[in-house]
Amino acid sequence: MSDSKKKIAIIGGGASGMTAAITASRGNAIVTVFEINSVPGKKICATGNGKCNFTNDLLNVTRYRGGNTEFAKTAVSRFGVSETLKFFEEIGITPKKKGEYVYPNSEEAKSVQKALMLTMESLGVETVFEKVSEIKRTEKGFIVNNRVFDKVIIACGSPAGLKKDSGFNGYELVKSLGHRVTPVFPALVQLRFTDKYSKTLSGVRHEGLITLFSDGKEMASDYGELLFTDYGISGIPTMQISRFAGECLEKKRDVKISIDLFKDLSEKELEAELKKRMSLNRTAEDCLTGLLNHKLNYVLLLKLNIDPEAPASKAFKKDSAEKLASLMKHLEFHITGTNPLESAQVAAGGADLSEIAPETMQSKKVPGLYFAGEITDVDGPCGGYNLQWAWTSGYIAGDCAAKG
Ligand SMILES: Cc1cc2nc3c(=O)[nH]c(=O)nc-3n(C[C@H](O)[C@H](O)[C@H](O)COP(=O)(O)OP(=O)(O)OC[C@H]3O[C@@H](n4cnc5c(N)ncnc54)[C@H](O)[C@@H]3O)c2cc1C
Repeated sequence: MSDSKKKIAIIGGGASGMTAAITASRGNAIVTVFEINSVPGKKICATGNGKCNFTNDLLNVTRYRGGNTEFAKTAVSRFGVSETLKFFEEIGITPKKKGEYVYPNSEEAKSVQKALMLTMESLGVETVFEKVSEIKRTEKGFIVNNRVFDKVIIACGSPAGLKKDSGFNGYELVKSLGHRVTPVFPALVQLRFTDKYSKTLSGVRHEGLITLFSDGKEMASDYGELLFTDYGISGIPTMQISRFAGECLEKKRDVKISIDLFKDLSEKELEAELKKRMSLNRTAEDCLTGLLNHKLNYVLLLKLNIDPEAPASKAFKKDSAEKLASLMKHLEFHITGTNPLESAQVAAGGADLSEIAPETMQSKKVPGLYFAGEITDVDGPCGGYNLQWAWTSGYIAGDCAAKG
């Protein structure tokens, strides 16, 4: 009865693997998911601070990065946001929009993982809780953990967010099948710099515009709440630009960030405000009270060698307002690195896109081999882009593997 049905092995029961499993099973294939953890979709439960920002209503495909920026565009044109919302509505996930970010109405990431798992179960998808360490190609088909399959979908994800000793072997599996893996580095991650005031600033939050420069050229910028830490800087805008920092650091290029602490004021307007404050009969530090977080005020003065404790009349010089305004508009730090993959939400790099067809997610080198999710050299910004990539590529791989 089942002889004409394709037997498909999916390596990895995460976001893309589960989508592929459901889609392939609906396409009449016999599906086995191999998952190293004792439950599928563990990473999904950690997404969006436990709320799972699973897609983006205003998804802009040009924001995906990787070796071929057209790749995600082609795939998303086949299975994009509206198809994703329909897919999830059908399995019980009612969407809730917060601006352009889309969450489940439950605001529980676990409900997304559970709905996927229940759907897989109801379709009769077999889940085997084993690590896959080898995929062999024989005349009979692919051998995975001593079982024979017609097709294989590699959906192992990435080491981002995993413990250092997780034993992640996805890239080895990709390479063992003759595919190239482009350099992998953390994306959506905190940035590190050395500054003698980092410890003082640690914990300070401020809404600012952060811009990344490499060898003097502007690479990316983003606005929002920045968080100063003892190792450098965090917060969503930092994460958004971090991918570009990671790439430049990989290429051993010089990387710098510049923070505009007052996006809506010109340098001249800020200077005028500072001059007013500097005429007060207070200490230098107290003149700035209420302008910025007190720790930022304090550090900015120290950076200009102005004694915070001294009376304003003595502490400030003729050009102090101009210098302080300039520093507040261009607070610069030299980036020494990113935090490691364990701290990142996503890994940039992965299976080389020139060897995969975006219309099918099938290997151009090995017939019957497919890829889905973050294992590929595609990454996107915060805001539901990366899960959308998992659903998109998982759907296409599952659908095409079942049909092909
Ligand atoms: C803290 C955090 C928050 C995030 N928040 C968001 C968010 O809100 N929105 C968003 O869009 N993206 C978010 N992401 C990114 C998103 O979770 C990933 O891009 C997405 O899960 C990738 O899907 P995937 O299927 O490729 O990989 P995964 O979901 O990681 O699934 C891969 C699966 O493969 C299994 N596996 C790996 N190797 C093997 C092997 N050899 N044998 C058997 N099984 C194996 C793994 O255990 C895992 O279950 C976040 C990531 C992190 C870490």
